[in-house]
Amino acid sequence: MTGVRRVVPLTLGWAELPLAYSLHGADPAARIREPVPAVLLDTGDGWVLLDTGYNPALLRDPVLRSRFHPVGGDFEAFLPEGDGHPLEAALEEVGLALEDVAAVALSHLHHDHAGGVGQFAAGGVPVHVQAAELTYALHDPGAEGHGIFRVDVDDPRLRWVQATGDTEIAPGVTAVLTAGHTPGHQSFVVDLAGGGGFVFAFDAADLQENLDEERAIGGTIGVPPEASLEPLRRLKAIAAEKGYRLVPGHDPHVWPALTQELR
Ligand SMILES: [Zn+2]
Repeated sequence: MTGVRRVVPLTLGWAELPLAYSLHGADPAARIREPVPAVLLDTGDGWVLLDTGYNPALLRDPVLRSRFHPVGGDFEAFLPEGDGHPLEAALEEVGLALEDVAAVALSHLHHDHAGGVGQFAAGGVPVHVQAAELTYALHDPGAEGHGIFRVDVDDPRLRWVQATGDTEIAPGVTAVLTAGHTPGHQSFVVDLAGGGGFVFAFDAADLQENLDEERAIGGTIGVPPEASLEPLRRLKAIAAEKGYRLVPGHDPHVWPALTQELR
């Protein structure tokens, strides 16, 4: 079996937000600080990057910031230290550069996952996304209000590869449609070359609690929060059947621990 040789989790920033966004029904006053995740996969087709973090320009430029991250908003974004591009800095930390990335796959187009994809516009790198997600981002006037910023993804140079449903994007890397959080959210099943593997839920399950207690996520677009349970259960079933570890997208304990374990 051709599988993934190495899995490298990255943290591209942090977010402070109401806990109820991640855990439906939580105390509306409770807030949580969550890591912004991305994953590098060493595949037979080169390095595949899952998700790209924030668009730093929208946080650093005062005019852009006032539109996209206004003071007093529910969701507060934090970039890592330094004034470079957080994605490039994170790649450099693990000895890689943008040019080493052979393909990108986006779980969904929320600004904390798709904000760095513009870094790949000039290179002709394929960017895998669900068609429903891209259509929503480019054409739905409500997208910005739901945290999906057209400015992050509307670059005619980007080489989109659009899927409708589950699809293999590289040897050992399969995207699984888990719509609910957003119209075309996808999670990723990673088969390791040496056996075993991971299921990266991304925002289909933010926290370990979502998975362990089958608690719905709070943030969904176009469907009630409870509709997030079916895709979450599907990921649990895939992980159980294959004996893979199921990793929530934004858990403040699980993500740093996994990062340390795999470095
Ligand atoms: Zn999201």
